Amino acid sequence: MDRRCPFLNAETMTAARPSSLLPRSRGVFCNRTLNFRSLRAIGYDMDYTLIDYRVDVFERQVFQFARERFLAQGWPVESLAFDPGMVARGLVIDTELGNMVKANRFGLVRRAQHGTAPLDFSRQRQVYSGTIVDLAEPRWVFLNTLFSLSEGCLYAQMVDLLDQGRLPGAMGYRDLYGQVRAMVDAQHLEGRLKDQIIAAPESCVVLDPEIPLTLLDQRHAGKKLLLITNSDWNFSAAMMAYAFDPFLPDGMGWRDLFDLVIVGARKPDFFTARAPFFEVVTGDGLLRPAQGPLRPGAAYMGGSAAQVERDLGIEGDEILYVGDHMFGDVHASKSTLRWRTALILRELETEVAALEAFAREEKLIAAKMDEKERLEAQLSQVRLSLQRLRWQYGPQPAETSAQLEARIQELRTQLLPLDGEIAPLARAASELTNSRWGLLTRAGNDKSHLARQVERYADVYTSRVSNFLYASPFVYLRSPRGSLPHDPSSPGGSALAMAPEPAD
Ligand code: IMP
Ligand code: MG
Repeated sequence: MDRRCPFLNAETMTAARPSSLLPRSRGVFCNRTLNFRSLRAIGYDMDYTLIDYRVDVFERQVFQFARERFLAQGWPVESLAFDPGMVARGLVIDTELGNMVKANRFGLVRRAQHGTAPLDFSRQRQVYSGTIVDLAEPRWVFLNTLFSLSEGCLYAQMVDLLDQGRLPGAMGYRDLYGQVRAMVDAQHLEGRLKDQIIAAPESCVVLDPEIPLTLLDQRHAGKKLLLITNSDWNFSAAMMAYAFDPFLPDGMGWRDLFDLVIVGARKPDFFTARAPFFEVVTGDGLLRPAQGPLRPGAAYMGGSAAQVERDLGIEGDEILYVGDHMFGDVHASKSTLRWRTALILRELETEVAALEAFAREEKLIAAKMDEKERLEAQLSQVRLSLQRLRWQYGPQPAETSAQLEARIQELRTQLLPLDGEIAPLARAASELTNSRWGLLTRAGNDKSHLARQVERYADVYTSRVSNFLYASPFVYLRSPRGSLPHDPSSPGGSALAMAPEPAD
């Protein structure tokens, strides 16, 4: 089977004449059919969407600044270090118990660690049997974006210190989370971090010359383009100029791409509340209250999606919003305004590549599981025959009790080595891309909580904005036919199927 994307067929970065195929990992994956030709506007988030950062640089810096501040307050945090593998997007902090958990699509915990120490399977079951992760409860904090990694990593290590009794004052796991949250928040809001990135963007920003071209294509195809970012004017202007201007036609700057630029948008509130707009009137970000309707080509701060819709005369499903924050960008714009949504999931490229590299082993697991199910089904039947024989009811077996017992023994003997063969393969599958947490989109044998949210709120998802270049502004993205356990093609779709997971 050809694993590449049928419409991804550009040969070079310039993509003037698409001719070869891109890897499947660069695909635009579709949950709900999306016809680009019916879109009148496309809104873009900036950070980790139009501008890609080196996570190990950006998040390490946030971590280190936050650690410095804790140190200055006398907390013994000098040995704490940022480790990007310790946490992952889509994990959930349990602020009640000081844990980090990975949940499946039903909210059932499938893996957990306390502080930095993994909980073994029996301990995890003991702690979380009967618990459903419900993100509406304040107990749970979802790691929505790559910006969440420094916070998750810092919290996990601080929990270890708290358990050792080394943190000052009386504090519980929830108070500690509050302290970490406030400290990370402060690093984003203080000028130091952003000033450093503005001064040396090359150390942190990953340039992608195909992104400006993607937007140029869309603009010339008649789409209104909007930039809607939570970043402030100075940072946004510096990042956009650095990442866009060198790759635009002569005489064109990044501002010329957009019908509207909105900074300091305060998403997710931007999508639900009605804050006023302020116009950015000078290059260095001087503001004045906006008068009248929004003007094409102008830049604003604050405001609301409701006024954008009204002043542009654009309704919910005529606008696609593209962002990387699962809640602030995608969930909020979808559930309140019914905008069409695209999630940028940078990690998808390694995820898809790992799945492809593991395909042979995955087939082997499926074959061995089929064999296991077949033997287990036989075992169940023999047990039932023995039961009927003992209690003398129903159809009676031809075999004697001793023969049935021997058969049970024989089946068990066959099952044992099979389990031994499946276990290491299953372990390897569970450690793909991250030995602690495994794939972002999988939890055990099922979809992860993150995957469920992507499915619910993102109409399409892809690893980077430039993948839309290859799709073109005229693409008709169709969702695959949804599969169900009873489909004839589903594995285990027979009377021998294993017990399903509990319902949603
Ligand atoms: P956007 O993704 O373009 O909307 O911008 C995200 C902005 O939010 C960036 O300027 C980040 O530095 C900032 N940000 C990320 N996490 C936090 C936080 O925890 N507190 C405050 N600002 C944050
Ligand atoms: Mg963002």
